[in-house]
Amino acid sequence: MEERPRKSKGDKDMDGGFVCILVVVGVVALLIYMSNQKASNRYRADCGECSHQSAWLSESEAEAASIRHYRSKHPDLPPGGTMQIRAR
Ligand SMILES: [Zn+2]
Repeated sequence: MEERPRKSKGDKDMDGGFVCILVVVGVVALLIYMSNQKASNRYRADCGECSHQSAWLSESEAEAASIRHYRSKHPDLPPGGTMQIRAR
């Protein structure tokens, strides 16, 4: 009859806590990353020929998206349309 205190149980609890901290840190990092992205993605290209709108992007990405859209949808027209800027 042996009743040794099981050390592995304590170890498991420690691991659970450690994983918990990792998850919390990861979520916080993700939230910070997403809020930074929102702050910088304030430009949206609206097509002047159809109702196409790009997603909210950075200024250079929105310009590139507009040019890509014109090349694929309106290849006979020079890139145009308007750029929307979202207020912070
Ligand atoms: Zn278009």
